[in-house]
Amino acid sequence: MRKYIVAGNWKMNGTLEETQILASEVVNMYNDEVNNGVVAVLCPPFIGIAEVLRLTRGSEVKAGAQNCHQELSGAFTGEVSAPILASFGVNYVIIGHSERREYFGEENALLAKKVDQAQANQLIPIYCCGETLSQREGGAHFQVIEQQVKEGLFHLNAEKLQQTVIAYEPVWAIGTGKTASAEQAQEIHAFIRSLIAITYGSDVADSISILYGGSVKPTNAAELFAMADIDGGLIGGAALKSRDFIDICKAVPA
Ligand code: PEP
Repeated sequence: MRKYIVAGNWKMNGTLEETQILASEVVNMYNDEVNNGVVAVLCPPFIGIAEVLRLTRGSEVKAGAQNCHQELSGAFTGEVSAPILASFGVNYVIIGHSERREYFGEENALLAKKVDQAQANQLIPIYCCGETLSQREGGAHFQVIEQQVKEGLFHLNAEKLQQTVIAYEPVWAIGTGKTASAEQAQEIHAFIRSLIAITYGSDVADSISILYGGSVKPTNAAELFAMADIDGGLIGGAALKSRDFIDICKAVPA
């Protein structure tokens, strides 16, 4: 169901102490200050998830993972499966982040399998797509996004597709301090929704949350989230500061 979601991707950050401080601060500040119904999700490294789950228990703040393996179980040293995540109580899993695509060679076909495995285990995939700077400068961004979205998600039936979240994250805006303008982001979000509408119908397209990611900060979040097709954000750097993360949550329209 379409709702506003702000998910924090902590990436490879979070010692035990940092995890405890950040998660507790976010829970307390969320309880005290956030009343717009936004779903807040914290995605620490795998090892921090159990601690985040413990500290968020009973609150509106959810826990997510940054990745999962495409197989159910087995001899895959260093990997974590969707059933393991689900058994710990994880709700969301980021799939196909551009850093996974770039540094770990994850391609759409593999990501489609991860989406399936996540859903088979009641996890909500946050499926990422986004073009590089050279793709945008070469005018290929619509084509790239279309291919990533279709190859990663369009094998799903309408019901399953509605149980996913999509994140548009232009690679050139991630961790660079360069944000897509609200208009640039809206253009791609509307495009993604139109792709879904063409294949699945507008009711399905209108029911899916599409998040924007790429240098979202308290100072630009409200403008981005006010756009018609932007349903929240996937936040990197700013998710490591509780004050910033909560202010971004508060930027969601009530
Ligand atoms: C991200 O890594 O998903 C991200 C959006 O990072 P940042 O907010 O730091 O650009």
